[in-house]
Amino acid sequence: MNIRVGTGFDAHAFGPGDSVALGGVRVPHTQGVVAHSDGDVILHALCDALLGAAGLGDIGQHFPDTDLRWKGVESHVFLTAVNDLLRARGYVVGNVDLTLMAQSPRIGAYRDQICAGIAQWLGLERHCVNLKATTTEHLGFIGRSEGLAALATVLIQPGPSTTA
Ligand code: MG
Repeated sequence: MNIRVGTGFDAHAFGPGDSVALGGVRVPHTQGVVAHSDGDVILHALCDALLGAAGLGDIGQHFPDTDLRWKGVESHVFLTAVNDLLRARGYVVGNVDLTLMAQSPRIGAYRDQICAGIAQWLGLERHCVNLKATTTEHLGFIGRSEGLAALATVLIQPGPSTTA
């Protein structure tokens, strides 16, 4: 087994509501997002990156949005399930690098809480999770505040029991 990398991307449209789930934290906003689950673009991109790194497909295959079990579910359920899948195959997460692309909301005040939560769900030290945020300078659907998106890059590596 070797170290492996994966990438993930997710986007959701804004819709009715007064908050947005971002990285497992409910961030107050003038709108919500349209989604089957909680529409957490950061955790969805992260799940896809982890599944990609492990060669396990994508989040839609594991948690189809046609399945009522996942309706309104908080996305840390997906993240911990994906982490369990990786661990069952002998992998642990090395580090996580995330980028939120949104004109709003601004997440500076929530960054530490988001990273700490993700680190905890993945069993990582806090410094192994990084979250960046950018606007698109008012360009495109993100810039027009029609929705928001996230990118994730991860490294996974053989766990302690498989390195001997
Ligand atoms: Mg999604």
